[in-house]
Amino acid sequence: DDDLALLEGEGLDDGGVDVEAAAPVLAVVGRPNVGKSTLVNRILGRREAVVEDKPGVTRDRVSYPAEWSGRRFTVVDTGGWEVDVAGIDKRVAQQAEVAIDLADAVLFVVDATVGSTDTDEQVVRLLRRSGKPVVLVANKVDGPAVEADAAALWSLGLGEPHPISALHGRGTGDLLDAAMRALPTVSAHAVPLPDGPRRVALVGRPNVGKSSLLNKVVGSERVVVDDLAGTTRDPVDELVALGGRPWVFVDTAGIRRRVHQTTGADFYASLRTQAAIEKAEVAVVLVDASAPMTEQDIRIVQQVIDAGRALVVAYNKWDLMDEDRRPFLEREIEQQLVQVQWAPRVNVSARTGWHTDRLVPALERSLESWDTRIPTGRLNAFLGELVSAHPHPLRGGKQPRILFATQASTRPPRFVIFASGFLEAGYRRFIERRLRETFGFEGTPITISVRVRE
Ligand code: GDP
Ligand code: GDP
Repeated sequence: DDDLALLEGEGLDDGGVDVEAAAPVLAVVGRPNVGKSTLVNRILGRREAVVEDKPGVTRDRVSYPAEWSGRRFTVVDTGGWEVDVAGIDKRVAQQAEVAIDLADAVLFVVDATVGSTDTDEQVVRLLRRSGKPVVLVANKVDGPAVEADAAALWSLGLGEPHPISALHGRGTGDLLDAAMRALPTVSAHAVPLPDGPRRVALVGRPNVGKSSLLNKVVGSERVVVDDLAGTTRDPVDELVALGGRPWVFVDTAGIRRRVHQTTGADFYASLRTQAAIEKAEVAVVLVDASAPMTEQDIRIVQQVIDAGRALVVAYNKWDLMDEDRRPFLEREIEQQLVQVQWAPRVNVSARTGWHTDRLVPALERSLESWDTRIPTGRLNAFLGELVSAHPHPLRGGKQPRILFATQASTRPPRFVIFASGFLEAGYRRFIERRLRETFGFEGTPITISVRVRE
């Protein structure tokens, strides 16, 4: 009991609400070089990413957990990657559009020493149209001499410009206070509703068939639920009834708009993927079964695991599957996707509709695992048996003893083991394997952490 109290005191127990998924999203938007990435690092209270990032190297990670005045939120960083000069205006507008779609509030950054440009004004129009709360940031106000330039940005019609120096930290506290006032306490993307629609992200690299599958699965059924009472949702999401219950397919606007077809759009695709995963409870990673698996496929699977979301892997274009390719595919899966052997697999054809009806049962299975809680008594009985049959190997004459374990949270299941010494990674993996064999957890990542107690 002592241990449980301690866990709660440490904030490990999330009370059944997925705090991460519910965190509101603050996007930082603006032209290149206005200081977006510098500001993001300032918000995160560290100096990584930008400064070390080489131009042209896109970062995998685009959103980061952040906190200000005790409030948790997610920052979406759209800065720090190269924009080709030729299409610069178009690209900035595109970037802004994606980020605005995904955000609950926007920090719009302008370089006060340059003043507003045509591109800035283009973004302002997008911001107005979106109706999302905007906080106007006048950056590079390193000293009082530049204050007047900041004031000139009233002309953008976005209200008060907040003069800051992202580089030196000047004014950033006041700015964040203003951002917190603009940001809703819970994300419109992720209001956890008991018995509400489950949230699905359909992800995968370009051309695997996401929009085809969306049309097949969602297209024909869309009409059924349009205005579900009490449901908050983003216009980029689609609400549908499948298998007798409502589902929200998140960020489908991105799929339908086919953002990835534009040039150099890897970054947008990656931004959307990351954001969609974070908005969802379960992700369907779509893979083209007719072509060799790529690193990008594997990276997307890993993104889902890292985000702690439930997972279904769907192998599409099965109608093109050639008998010669099958053994290759099976081998690829075995070799490259070993880390997700626990994920339900469905073979489908978005073109013909073959087996697409198997998707929903797989989603339900994964979500059920994601929500599973093993009672403490059962968990400890299981571990007791396991440890006596397979004790931790002796190291230097010592053997860590497992004292007690508890499931600290669900969504996904996270376990904490208290032990008298550190447990080796191999032994933790062994425990995970046995946990899965015993309790299922098909379709959900699980984590095991160890606390050493004397
Ligand atoms: P991004 O392209 O909008 O992400 O811009 P960066 O954050 O990469 O910044 C572009 C350049 O402006 C870098 O050289 C930064 O050091 C510089 N910079 C950013 N913020 C400030 C600031 O507040 N004052 C000054 N003087 N320079 C800044
Ligand atoms: P997205 O980029 O992931 O949204 O992929 P699309 O849905 O746009 O599909 C890319 C291409 O693959 C299109 O030409 C589709 O017609 C085709 N395609 C999608 N699903 C299937 C499938 O199951 N079988 C076949 N043969 N082609 C498919």
